[in-house]
Amino acid sequence: MAYASQKDQIPVFFEDTSIAFASKSDSQLRKTYWLFSLMNQARVVNLGTFFIKIALKLHLPIKNLIRHTIFEQFCGGETISDCQQTISTLAGSGVGTILDYSVEGEDDENSFDATAAEILRTIQKASESKAIPFSVFKITGIASTDLLEKVQRKETLSASESAAFERVRERVEKLCSQAHQLNVRIFIDAEESWVQNVIDDLTYEMMEKYNKEKAIVYNTYQFYRHETLQALKSAYLVARQKGYALGGKLVRGAYMEKERIRAREQEYFNPIHTSKEATDKDYNAAIDFCLENVEHISICLGTHNEYSSQYCTCKMKKLGLKNDDSRIYFAQLLGMSDNISYNLAKVGYNVAKYVPYGPIDSVLPYLIRRAEENTSIAGQSSREYLLVKSEMHRRGVSSL
Ligand SMILES: Cc1cc2nc3c(=O)[nH]c(=O)nc-3n(C[C@H](O)[C@H](O)[C@H](O)COP(=O)(O)OP(=O)(O)OC[C@H]3O[C@@H](n4cnc5c(N)ncnc54)[C@H](O)[C@@H]3O)c2cc1C
Repeated sequence: MAYASQKDQIPVFFEDTSIAFASKSDSQLRKTYWLFSLMNQARVVNLGTFFIKIALKLHLPIKNLIRHTIFEQFCGGETISDCQQTISTLAGSGVGTILDYSVEGEDDENSFDATAAEILRTIQKASESKAIPFSVFKITGIASTDLLEKVQRKETLSASESAAFERVRERVEKLCSQAHQLNVRIFIDAEESWVQNVIDDLTYEMMEKYNKEKAIVYNTYQFYRHETLQALKSAYLVARQKGYALGGKLVRGAYMEKERIRAREQEYFNPIHTSKEATDKDYNAAIDFCLENVEHISICLGTHNEYSSQYCTCKMKKLGLKNDDSRIYFAQLLGMSDNISYNLAKVGYNVAKYVPYGPIDSVLPYLIRRAEENTSIAGQSSREYLLVKSEMHRRGVSSL
């Protein structure tokens, strides 16, 4: 914590909620407050998600309720054009948008093709707008998870499985070549460890092809895994040897519980660090490594962690890197950690928000994860709830 003790050396602080919520009117703020105060209660979230799932199955008319509450908070809309308002509002505060087509759970070839076609549209849209600095996709959105697992286990594939995997490659190739052609940087999200090797292989193949001049394709590194810091360093060496730029989105990792459960059930070594501190240590060490090698690595910090974000700004300052160095970005999810995004943008850092979008039913798993993440843990209120509450207090706005 050496940096945090030198307060006058820190280039940015995140306490200023007036900057974080400047684009929200009093009534919008009140609505956000109510939403987070409901989500803050684990029992409400558990009951709520249970009833929403049942109501949707029974075709009860609850979509509008979802649309005007949790969907409005965390998503840009159902289509790219619906997101225009969000893109403009964020851009007004110097924050970019990363359109994230968040449809989950569809597992057939037609949906994979449809998803790939939609991601192509996000790449096209990004190429037309300075407010959209990156595009993004998940390999499991365009490939069967079972198939990816089989490939990772190096099992012999049937003829039809081989053909299906060839189509996965073609989709990945199409997306990355289009991104390269239109000069749009593209993130490939990281997923569960049992498919991640295949994702890595496909991603490095694309990097080798399309990152010759600069980083267009970015892999995602999950530092909750023991081996990721070393993997990042090795990837850097390979990229140097082969002569391409490394693109890295640095995250802690989203599938911790799933990973632990599977490792326990199948009795293999859990790939996840045994403590949060170990994850944090690797994450911050990765920031050091990337910034010290920024000549050949472009990064995006996908995090809501204030210390790591601040740590990165301190390290940039120490290395004499400009706040708006085009090789360094910060990103948060729409509707979360606005105090980080807006305060960073205010002092000139490159910042963007993932803006998820898609039909309400299909983005529901994403929304449920956001709700669960914002419930109070061990009696502590969620971070977002406290921030909104503090801004209500500052403005003297009542909750009614
Ligand atoms: C823009 C953006 C893009 C993202 N893209 C991806 C992606 O492609 N793939 C992906 O997996 N995730 C992704 N995430 C989610 C990310 O991995 C984290 O789950 C989430 O951001 C919370 O971590 P944090 O750094 O924000 O902050 P924090 O709240 O400080 O950290 C929470 C995280 O720390 C880790 N952790 C918590 N407790 C422990 C413990 N006991 N032991 C070890 N580790 C622990 C977990 O990873 C947990 O999610 C993304 C997040 C953002 C903001």
